[in-house]
Amino acid sequence: MTTTVTLTGTGVPFPSPDRAGPGVLVSHSDVHLQIDAGRSTVMRLAQAGISPHQLSALLLTHLHSDHVSDVADLVHTRWVQDHMHGTGPLPVVAVAGHAPGFVRRVLAANEFDVNVRVQHVQDGPPEVIGHWFDLPDVPAEVWRSPCDRVGVEAVRVRHEPVEQAVGYRVTTPDGVVVVSGDTRVCDEIAALSAGADVLVHEACRSSALAEAVKGTRFETIFSYHADTVALGAMARRVGVPHLVLTHLIPAPTSPEQVAEFEDEVRQGGFEGRVSVGHDLLSVTVGDAAGA
Ligand SMILES: [Zn+2]
Ligand SMILES: [Zn+2]
Repeated sequence: MTTTVTLTGTGVPFPSPDRAGPGVLVSHSDVHLQIDAGRSTVMRLAQAGISPHQLSALLLTHLHSDHVSDVADLVHTRWVQDHMHGTGPLPVVAVAGHAPGFVRRVLAANEFDVNVRVQHVQDGPPEVIGHWFDLPDVPAEVWRSPCDRVGVEAVRVRHEPVEQAVGYRVTTPDGVVVVSGDTRVCDEIAALSAGADVLVHEACRSSALAEAVKGTRFETIFSYHADTVALGAMARRVGVPHLVLTHLIPAPTSPEQVAEFEDEVRQGGFEGRVSVGHDLLSVTVGDAAGA
């Protein structure tokens, strides 16, 4: 048995033809967890061979729009297909604060379609199963698969001005995968990553581009994302064997720019394996051969 980690999107709010909005799919056997659902997540999942009805849960890190813009499509498509699959409402795991209202409004926006479909083919309106949790200052279990083989812990991260932001640690019989969500390099993710096999972390070239963005809005934006050099230092300290970079700021458009992300992580002292993410990059956990 293996656990796979597939990047369903490595992009950011600015559109990029090759990069869907942020998302990570963690799969173990028939347990499929989608973490965040940015732009075109449903399409990337289809490319990865996963349909919305197969998801065990959708986990949200925070509500910046780039991470949730495809929640509507994901939930609605699962509902439209439910008469074929009967898997029922999608479980949604998120911080209790803003997320329940967001999901409710997303579903309400399709009121016209819902009314038409309920009159003709659907048994009732779309719903989700909310697993809302209080923002945890220390890692806390927030979801467990019915088969008991896969558990998820969450911890708050440092993405202020967004207070309600978390990273997730997924534990399967094969190993541990940590997904940072959006955050500065922080002690919370360092602690969450102890003993992890794979750390999927957002990456921003803050140090390298400091002069170029000085005095611009980007300087402010970069301040709440993870500097590549500091990330390398943290990953070294934690001793994680494989660092996967995603949510790449700015999106690399050439092999040279891809290499710069890795170079900067190395400058931070990280000597383990680095994968600079691209959409549908898939990494295997619990297989000595790797992938
Ligand atoms: Zn964000
Ligand atoms: Zn983001």
